[in-house]
Amino acid sequence: MKTILIIADGAGDRPEKALKNRTPFQAAHTPNLNALATKGINGIMDVIAPGIKPGSDTGHLALFGYDPHDYYTGRGPFEAAGAGITLKKGDVAFRCNMGTVKNGVVADRRAGRKPTSEFVEALKQIKIETVHGVTPIVADGIAHRFALVLRGQDLSWRVTNSDPHDTGMPVQQVKPLEKTGGALRTAKACSEFMKKAEHILATHPSNKTRDPPANAVLIRGAGIATNMPAFETKYGLSTAAIAKGTLYEGVARMLGMEVITPKTATGDKNEDCMAFAKETKKALKRKDFVFLHIKGPDLAGHDGKPEEKVETIESIDEMIGELLDLDALIAFTCDHSTPCNLKGHSGDPVPIAIAGEGIRTDNVTHFDEIACAQGGLHRIRGSDLMPILLNILNLNEKYGA
Ligand code: ZN
Ligand code: ZN
Repeated sequence: MKTILIIADGAGDRPEKALKNRTPFQAAHTPNLNALATKGINGIMDVIAPGIKPGSDTGHLALFGYDPHDYYTGRGPFEAAGAGITLKKGDVAFRCNMGTVKNGVVADRRAGRKPTSEFVEALKQIKIETVHGVTPIVADGIAHRFALVLRGQDLSWRVTNSDPHDTGMPVQQVKPLEKTGGALRTAKACSEFMKKAEHILATHPSNKTRDPPANAVLIRGAGIATNMPAFETKYGLSTAAIAKGTLYEGVARMLGMEVITPKTATGDKNEDCMAFAKETKKALKRKDFVFLHIKGPDLAGHDGKPEEKVETIESIDEMIGELLDLDALIAFTCDHSTPCNLKGHSGDPVPIAIAGEGIRTDNVTHFDEIACAQGGLHRIRGSDLMPILLNILNLNEKYGA
């Protein structure tokens, strides 16, 4: 039996006033998700642990069975992998913004949010000279974003951000967070990179007409590439990811998954979910395990728009309709809750349904946070998901004699 793991990013929620004190999952019209819940086993899930508020990066790692405490240092490596850099063990990666700085003070953290590809291209000429044996690698991201990787011996992710995270604040120096040679070397290399970048950007021809100019590099999210075993090696399942968004593509790439992005994918609230279903069906012919990721609900949550979240859930429901009749094990859940009234992530458990041949069904007939809590899975953790799926697939090993 093949497996599809569908993650509706940040779709879990709390009762919302605008929805008559129902959660978006309760308020949405979801005949297909309800059919999945009816023929499946249901529960709620603490993606990392009860009360812990996951990021999308740590949440996904936990769901795939990679304890973030062992494998996660910062978001940088995932963004870099998503931007197309193949990371080596020991690489230190950062997520960066092109920003606008006036007299050392940040005027716009995103340089007008306009694409900055030509500037990123120009930064490729930078060489680090003050720290021996360190090579910078840059890759363009979406709009004003890009990734920076420092490659070399003895580097550390234990350094501060240069991004002050607010306008009107001075650009910070990257400082070591510990007194190790690695942290000192990394901080020094970052400072040199930023200084040289500033010089290149100040004289870049595209900045003559650009308003606001992209004249500074803001770096954050330092993380080191850890030794993560590939998903296929860990579970013996060939795998593909159907996803749009550098972070999700990055997580998938770092786990050795083949990443497929539908041509019409937007990565926003108006996602072409049907295209994701189509690519999933295609990939399932070649792969044992397909991970399907939809970003929309999380964005509606961050924007504080419960009605829009309902709409994103309803278009996901239509997509589920395309997949329901496949001869496959289907698991549907979220990487965390993003309650609209919080406009951010929370540690509330997320609903989960698993349906497929051999499943011991329960009495749940509606897919939502409250109904699923009555189901046969009860309350599990994200780290339980892969063992439960492997058990249903009869691929787990016996513990004991
Ligand atoms: Zn997320
Ligand atoms: Zn989010």
